[in-house]
Amino acid sequence: GLPKGGKMDWKKAPCRFCGVGCGVLVGVEEGKAVAVKGDPKSPVNKGLCCVKGYHSVMALYGKDRLTKPLVKKNGKYVETSMDEALDLIASKMKTTIKDYGKDSVSIYGSGQWTIPDGYVASKLFKGCIGTNNVEANARLCMASAVTGFLTSFGADEPMGCYDDIDHADVFILWGNNMAEMHPVLFSRLLDQRLKRGVKIIDFATRTTRTSMAADKSILFLPQTDLAVANAICYEIIKNDWVNKDFVEQHCNFNKGLTNMGYGLEDKYKFKDKPEKIDFEAYKKFLEDYTPEKVEKISGVSAKDIKYMASFYGDPNKKVMSLWCMGMNQHSRGTWINNLVYNIHLLTGKISEPGNSPFSLTGQPSACGTVREVGTLTHKLPHGVVMKKEHREFAAKIWDVPAENIPSKPTYHTVEMFRALDRGDIRFMWIQVTNPMVTMPKLKRYRDAAKKEGRFIVVSDIYPTPTTDIADVILPSAMWIEREGMFGNSERRTQYFEQMVNPPGEAMSDTWQIVEVAKRMGFEKQFYYKKDTHVEEIYNEYRRHHDNKKHNMAPLAVLKKNPGMQWPYVDGKPTKWRFNSEYDPACSNGKKFHFYGKPDGKAVIWQRPYEPAAEEPDKDFPFWLNTGRVVEHWHTGSMTRRIPVLHKAMPKGYVELNPGDAKRMQIKTGDLVKLTTRRGEIIMPASVNERGVPAPMQVFVPFFDEKMLINDITLDSFCPISKEPDYKKCAVQVEKVRGK
Ligand code: SF4
Repeated sequence: GLPKGGKMDWKKAPCRFCGVGCGVLVGVEEGKAVAVKGDPKSPVNKGLCCVKGYHSVMALYGKDRLTKPLVKKNGKYVETSMDEALDLIASKMKTTIKDYGKDSVSIYGSGQWTIPDGYVASKLFKGCIGTNNVEANARLCMASAVTGFLTSFGADEPMGCYDDIDHADVFILWGNNMAEMHPVLFSRLLDQRLKRGVKIIDFATRTTRTSMAADKSILFLPQTDLAVANAICYEIIKNDWVNKDFVEQHCNFNKGLTNMGYGLEDKYKFKDKPEKIDFEAYKKFLEDYTPEKVEKISGVSAKDIKYMASFYGDPNKKVMSLWCMGMNQHSRGTWINNLVYNIHLLTGKISEPGNSPFSLTGQPSACGTVREVGTLTHKLPHGVVMKKEHREFAAKIWDVPAENIPSKPTYHTVEMFRALDRGDIRFMWIQVTNPMVTMPKLKRYRDAAKKEGRFIVVSDIYPTPTTDIADVILPSAMWIEREGMFGNSERRTQYFEQMVNPPGEAMSDTWQIVEVAKRMGFEKQFYYKKDTHVEEIYNEYRRHHDNKKHNMAPLAVLKKNPGMQWPYVDGKPTKWRFNSEYDPACSNGKKFHFYGKPDGKAVIWQRPYEPAAEEPDKDFPFWLNTGRVVEHWHTGSMTRRIPVLHKAMPKGYVELNPGDAKRMQIKTGDLVKLTTRRGEIIMPASVNERGVPAPMQVFVPFFDEKMLINDITLDSFCPISKEPDYKKCAVQVEKVRGK
């Protein structure tokens, strides 16, 4: 029947799902969250909400919610008390460290960790235990954006904000299916088209719902975005569209190493070597990238390349470039990020309303927790482990000796699982992520986790393929069942209170870590009190960022507002960084100050086109691309429990180009076998149903835990960011039988 419609309490929170970070109002009735609507006061979504947001509270109430800790005994899971489970985890960590050393224990979290979750994980492992074995799944989705920012500007995270959408005249989407992945933000683009007639250009390897809604869709062959971006720069210089004043005052030119490999060896040994060049050398390099030459590599006509370049080159047009996984999950992910910045730097279209290169994130707190708290092996809340002054600064706040924090990063995500395989890592605690669905070349890492002598703890809310490999499963409190903060793609930190009780013995990831830390003997550092720990942790965290470049808003401000953008200086958020009109940290007396770089200048990089790690050949003639769908949140572990979303998208499929499908006599629903050098998988075909891949390409969404596409993907990665390339490997496609 219909809900009773009793007294409803509406409370504000950021949405639990994507990195857009919409503000929502959650309706709570009789202790249960029963409704969601967009918060009209949120400047992010202005009252809008997408299908996942509207149904988000239903993810709390799936029938198979984990409510009791489970410990594996003789191959079977046995219920235990939370106290016993936490005692076991603490003692297992201590004995593992004693037997195999500090670097044998690790924690693997996610961009769904709240800020306090990630903070205490980093403090326990880096500060107290003394290992840099802290990583998060955001390595798999936005590490290339981070290294792109750092190499181009010396500082991470977008300089602009969503308000840019209200000022830009043209939106160029680089490999970015915004209509499905960032739907509310995409609707803001469509709204601007209605109001102001802006243009939306979709530049991608397949036709998606975004392409269908765009004014123009331009398809390129996988990996050749590198060449096209260089060709756009070539056109900008050739047509004298360079903003010479801007470039002279605010830019340097660098080249880096080439042929850096693809991370396929077990040990990575790649380090870029920047070398200064001058404008003339850069111009000469671009002669290999005339639109006519690039047309042959990329499949994009010279006319379309010139068309894209003309928007960037027009001084009367404000241009926003938007991207996400298409550019980040790329074996040259750092380079392609650099190349799009090159376009904006050459034309001076940067850091001002409407002129904005903008990398979007997928998870609600990939920015807030992974990038800002710094839950990656090389990071600290303020700075990096490699710098003595940063280690000393963090150690002082953490109340640990500075020598505790090792000066070298250990393992990035792929390497962390390889270390588990080798036995260098013996203990791994996985929180709020599902790597046994998402790791590339998954079978190898699943087998690694099951090896003798490995101890795996998994904290989650539902059973998943990752809880299947656990020795201990801890039930977690999710989203509004606990208090916390997320940080979205536009540097906005948003607070949410606890609105309902978690089920059974479930507790927050933060409190699980605090309790284990205390049991390991770190009571002094983990002094937080149960009732006030979120506030105490956030206040402590803010001390790491106490400067004009990073300052976070106080908790009292977050509680009153629908989030606040950092740097928060003198009671105000900063909307556009590096522009002295908006950013109080600019101190060089010029209009722009890229203060992340020692000389305050951004870098235009010479980055060539190089082929992908594995390209189609006669045995594996198709490209395999993977990604997401609007109905499911990543691996579907939550959205599968929301009946309306599960019914709308019940299982995985392989999208084929209609011409290929016709030639191979494959229709929607027919079973198709995909074979790569890693293995094979059988799944139903989808032809002309949603996305349309280009000829000789197939696309598979990764949400289906029964058809694990990552069993056959390749674990190559960008040698600078260490982010895997989920968008490209070679595959053979065969029809198995009809429906
Ligand atoms: Fe939530 Fe993202 Fe949808 Fe907004 S666009 S409601 S943040 S899933």
